[in-house]
Amino acid sequence: MNALPLSFEFFPPKAPEGTEKLRAVRQRLYALAPEFCSVTYGAGGSTHEGTFATVREILAEGQGAAAHFSCIGATRERVRAQLAELQAMGVRRLVALRGDLPSGYGLGGEFQYASDLVAFIRAETGRAFHIEVAAYPETHPQARSPEADLQAFAAKARAGADSAITQYFYNADAYFRFRDDALRLGVALPVVPGIMPITSATQLLRFSDACGAEVPRWVRLRLQAFGDDAESIKAFGLDVVTALCERLVQGGAPARHFYTMNQSAATLEIARRLGLAPAGA
Ligand code: FAD
Repeated sequence: MNALPLSFEFFPPKAPEGTEKLRAVRQRLYALAPEFCSVTYGAGGSTHEGTFATVREILAEGQGAAAHFSCIGATRERVRAQLAELQAMGVRRLVALRGDLPSGYGLGGEFQYASDLVAFIRAETGRAFHIEVAAYPETHPQARSPEADLQAFAAKARAGADSAITQYFYNADAYFRFRDDALRLGVALPVVPGIMPITSATQLLRFSDACGAEVPRWVRLRLQAFGDDAESIKAFGLDVVTALCERLVQGGAPARHFYTMNQSAATLEIARRLGLAPAGA
């Protein structure tokens, strides 16, 4: 039995081969009966057309889909038009984000923070969408302080968010602390941990430096010591991430959101180790 809801995150493929490959990946992951699959927006220079096209496919496959929606450089008029397009497609869940610009660009646009976007979506569309927002157990890299970041999270809740998905982390205590601090502030949103399987040392270390997620020293050193030994990296990564998921569940995490990186093998193996039965099995 899949006791807790699962969700999977994908990015829109740039090339036709990637689109084909992602279709096969999704079919394998659907065996775990996800609550929804989400598709990133604007990340890595992708366009909203790519996000919307992938979301459309997921809906056509009979699955719940969430469109990520970032507001960097966006005008109210453009956001209004895109929300109408998503509603017409049958999308009922959004992950509302500020987004990131390549360094050197100003923020631009008519929205400064994700809380402004959440408030706008609520004002424009009422309860048409379930709105997810981002949370940072290890603090967003641009935040003035952990407390300021927590206040920014509370502002997203007050603006109308329904639930949150965290940046990935490998330190469960950071997650528990964040969740409990948010509760103390009166923010009772479900905070779903974002889980990043470890499949490649170089990719993980590069990503983590960019987004401010901490790879603990003991994990980093071991990954580096494996060098080119991809099998050992994968085996070690599965152990680390499975143990993290177990701890999160024991500590009361309400669900799990997997950053799949458009791959299925590691997520499926972690699910198997956690005893999550494929649907119908
Ligand atoms: P915000 O909540 O607006 O916070 C941004 C910064 O501003 C933080 O440092 C915060 O502390 C600060 N802040 C907020 N409000 C205030 C205020 N009133 N006064 C002062 N400071 C304030 N990026 C993409 O481009 N596309 C995606 O699809 C995408 N998906 C993501 C999914 C998840 C689950 C997560 C965790 C992140 C995702 N990101 C994505 C990355 C995200 O866009 C970046 O982390 C971005 O830098 C912050 O977005 P946010 O929505 O958390 O911003």
